[in-house]
Amino acid sequence: MQAWAAALAPLPHGYAFFALDLDQGVSFELHGPDGPLWIEADLAPDPGFARTRRLRLTHQPHALTARQRQVLAHAVARLQALDDGLWPTPGEAEPAVRHVRADRVLVTSPNLPTDYAINPYIGCTIGCQFCNARFRADDVRALDGRAPRPWGAWIDAKVDAPEVLAREVQTVRPGSVCFSPVITDPYVGVERRLELTRSCLQVLATAGFSAAVLTRSSLVLRDFDALAQLPAAAVGVSLPTEDPQLLERIEPRGATQAERLAILDSARAAGLRTFAVVQPAYPRNASALAELLACRVDAVRVDGLHEAGRVGHLFQGVELADPAEVERAFTALGVPTDLEAVLRFSN
Ligand code: SF4
Repeated sequence: MQAWAAALAPLPHGYAFFALDLDQGVSFELHGPDGPLWIEADLAPDPGFARTRRLRLTHQPHALTARQRQVLAHAVARLQALDDGLWPTPGEAEPAVRHVRADRVLVTSPNLPTDYAINPYIGCTIGCQFCNARFRADDVRALDGRAPRPWGAWIDAKVDAPEVLAREVQTVRPGSVCFSPVITDPYVGVERRLELTRSCLQVLATAGFSAAVLTRSSLVLRDFDALAQLPAAAVGVSLPTEDPQLLERIEPRGATQAERLAILDSARAAGLRTFAVVQPAYPRNASALAELLACRVDAVRVDGLHEAGRVGHLFQGVELADPAEVERAFTALGVPTDLEAVLRFSN
């Protein structure tokens, strides 16, 4: 993938290639006088804003200055010229847990509810089959010449993440950091042994940052002591339904409903802020779900199923809810549905 990044230098109007991010699909970050610009590439068949022979290209932000449009056109032409020569053949099978090194770990994106995000891992052994991260992860593996592996059966652990983070926090303004912005869970099983999430939390505490961790695993209970060292830290669980049996059917390797509620209760008792993410929303009864969470969280975010065309069959016989309707059930009980207002932090 580095060859693709090298193709983006030089760029016009004072823009320069800044970073290649493979966490959540392939993302080229360009920096210049009109602010950062991200070009995302994947193997989806639809048009995007432009295509190379095999890649769909999309960009952030959506509204561009005239100069950014020219930079983008230039970058697209380079990527199109490269597409033919740079496709690797898939390599040998890899171990389920691969130790990798990171160029950087603290990332920003206009879509975050926090100032920054960290993924100490890529891939997720909780392995929910509806997870839309799996498709982006598959694309990155293919583009990087790695052998395919089923979603839920592999993890890349960024073993130097705490050291890289310790350097990065010296160079940027303190703010809130989200763990688990959709490509992994910060409390996958191997975290018990590697403690990368825990070590990153400890680094953030020494530098005056805050953190919000979102999980489907009870392992987060282990780190309440580390979270308590951070100003305004928050703990969140994903809980898309109030029906415990349905939850176990759809998310068999995540914590049970009782365990997820216990995480929130314990977090509150420990003085931490709490939130829930209802995604993909599949409550049997939206009001019952809102009642279950209202006394336990400071805010919720509700969202629907992503990639419904590819994973909708997993919900056969289950009614996926209209997110706006579920939000109304929370609003009726006074629960804010703007996660950003709760998770952003300034010191
Ligand atoms: S726990 Fe989260 S990241 Fe992991 S598979 Fe499930 S939805 Fe995806």
